[in-house]
Amino acid sequence: MAATRSFYHEHPHALVVEAEVLDARPGRVLLDRSPFYPGGGGQLADRGVLRWETGESSVVGFEPSELGLWHLLADQVEPAGRVQAAVDERFRQLMRELHTGTHVLNALIFRRFDGALVTGVQMQEDGSARMDFDLPGADNDRLRALEPELNDVVGQDLRVADGYVALEEARSQHGLIRSRSVAPPPTPEGMVRIVEIAGLDRQACGGTHLASTGGSHPLRVLKVENKGRHNRRVRIALAGFPAAPAR
Ligand SMILES: [Zn+2]
Repeated sequence: MAATRSFYHEHPHALVVEAEVLDARPGRVLLDRSPFYPGGGGQLADRGVLRWETGESSVVGFEPSELGLWHLLADQVEPAGRVQAAVDERFRQLMRELHTGTHVLNALIFRRFDGALVTGVQMQEDGSARMDFDLPGADNDRLRALEPELNDVVGQDLRVADGYVALEEARSQHGLIRSRSVAPPPTPEGMVRIVEIAGLDRQACGGTHLASTGGSHPLRVLKVENKGRHNRRVRIALAGFPAAPAR
């Protein structure tokens, strides 16, 4: 069963791997294994570099196909044989922190606002993320006031772990699948990946996260806006990144 699970989930610390080129076209390659997160669920795709005996090129995007995941390169090259695939570690770390931050925000809102669900999420390369919640009639000041609680969770350094449950089981528990747009597709065996923050939250998710909440920069609540009659958009940012003004 493990073979159908993503390499970046099974080996989250393997950011540089040797791989074999299965197929290549000018500016794109298929690899027998890959450490890259191809994006999805509001998390931006990894960046990085592919190196081979006679050259290297930046990995600038991904394109899924029936054959596998095409790695799109910055140059019109066609590498063959053995290559080294290296994920941009700083960018991955930024996404892991932001992604974990969105789970913490999501967990607190789910608890404080009567099981409110997420309608959208998008992380940004400037160190911010926005989340939309189905929160008709919510008091925006109460949402802004969550900032100290977010940082309390960061300070508690809660363990973040993942596991798999059957799709039926995931569907039967309210809140385990917070959003259709964010939940990952099930594996071919019908299993859904669940990410758990110890004592705080469990939800279906296919992204990459910290190993514990204490690995994050402090979080700021930048803005709370109304989006239509039902939705609230909350923008958070990691302190020390461009999106978060210094205080
Ligand atoms: Zn997640």
